[in-house]
Amino acid sequence: MPPTTRNAHAIDGMISRLNAPDYDRWAAQIRRAGGCAQPIHLRGRAEYRDRQTGALLHRYTTRTEPDGVLRLPCKTRRASRCPACAETYRADTYHLIRAGLIGGKGVPASVASHPCLFVTLTAPSFGPVHTRREHHGKTHPCHARRAAPTCGHGRVLSCKARHRIHEPVLGEPLCPGCYDHAGSVLFNALAPLLWKRFTDALRRHLAKSGGLTLKEMREHLAVSFAKVAEYQRRGVVHLHAVIRLDGPDGPSSRPPTWATCDLLTAAVTHAARVVRADVPALDDESARVLRWGAQLDIRPITLSGDLTESAVAAYIAKYATKAAECVGTLDRPIRLTDDLAALPVRDHARRLIAECFRLNNQEATADLNLAHWAHMLGFRGHFSTRSRHYSVGIGDIRTERTAHARLPLLDDDPEIVGTWEYVGRGLSLGDALIADSLSGAR
Ligand SMILES: [Zn+2]
Ligand SMILES: [Zn+2]
Ligand SMILES: [Zn+2]
Repeated sequence: MPPTTRNAHAIDGMISRLNAPDYDRWAAQIRRAGGCAQPIHLRGRAEYRDRQTGALLHRYTTRTEPDGVLRLPCKTRRASRCPACAETYRADTYHLIRAGLIGGKGVPASVASHPCLFVTLTAPSFGPVHTRREHHGKTHPCHARRAAPTCGHGRVLSCKARHRIHEPVLGEPLCPGCYDHAGSVLFNALAPLLWKRFTDALRRHLAKSGGLTLKEMREHLAVSFAKVAEYQRRGVVHLHAVIRLDGPDGPSSRPPTWATCDLLTAAVTHAARVVRADVPALDDESARVLRWGAQLDIRPITLSGDLTESAVAAYIAKYATKAAECVGTLDRPIRLTDDLAALPVRDHARRLIAECFRLNNQEATADLNLAHWAHMLGFRGHFSTRSRHYSVGIGDIRTERTAHARLPLLDDDPEIVGTWEYVGRGLSLGDALIADSLSGAR
């Protein structure tokens, strides 16, 4: 905790909490919230009734809890908002991705023999950006070009620097004037549509290869996905996905013998190449077609070797807890009243944010509602998604945990009817000081 917050007000708050008669109860709530930095406060009550007779077995009310509220973890996936809950989300994601690769959590171990690939779909180039180039442990110049052209803005489009990791200039355009900011935010905005079209094209290709219609294929083959979006430093998203072939009933059933890893590779390659999203003409430029970038990475996931199931699960789980803040932008929607020039972001991000607002006012792109997604640089999708049959859902893992942790458990599976009201969130400065030491001692 930085010393500035360690003021008299915080110390007073801490002392009165520590001396409160219900301190132990409060500390138990905080511990159960797992070190959450911004717990949700709920007021309400729950009744436990026998499922057969309807008889009241137990009654719970927050009236007797400290401050009259129950504190629950915020459950955010964003590390920038709550490190503790994001860590829980990361760990849950890790386990369910891994279960989809080698079984566990109710997924049979035989799933490990199903054809399965780790695929990275990239964004195309929207202009040269400063890049760290590494090859065999040696750093190479960024964009060294002999006789590099000078652009219309008077910049020589070359950079001989060997950039270090984390250098602020990385991801910044060589010439901001030439950079296609509209293309970048439109790609982010349409990435979920491109993904949808990619999965459709993939299924069609597989069906055709098996000599089946799409409808017939459902009797033989199902495709499962788990994907995550990763922001590049230049502010566009890449998608990483686990793509697996199952039999018609999901991971518990074998795919047909003709559905091989090679066929899946061919289908992914085909689908990534053919899909497109059209953007109508803007006021000052012609219509454009957006596609995945030329760089397409397809790798088989194996139990031993280059790309193991644990490595893939860790990779997806890591990006599931990040948002656009990793490119130095904001973690909340930007309001029209915000002063763009004053936002604490990199200039490149500021230009992409401004582009979202500009496109929001153009008829051709108004329905993308880009002003609302400006803080995400246009991306409006979910960061981490899975198809229904991939493995268990994150909700299942959590229900399993929270049901045991929250309310008192009774032996005979009663019906629980609750009435809850959201009354706030967060910790006071004094409470935060104690919560820090409690979670440190876990
Ligand atoms: Zn939290
Ligand atoms: Zn450079
Ligand atoms: Zn230029």
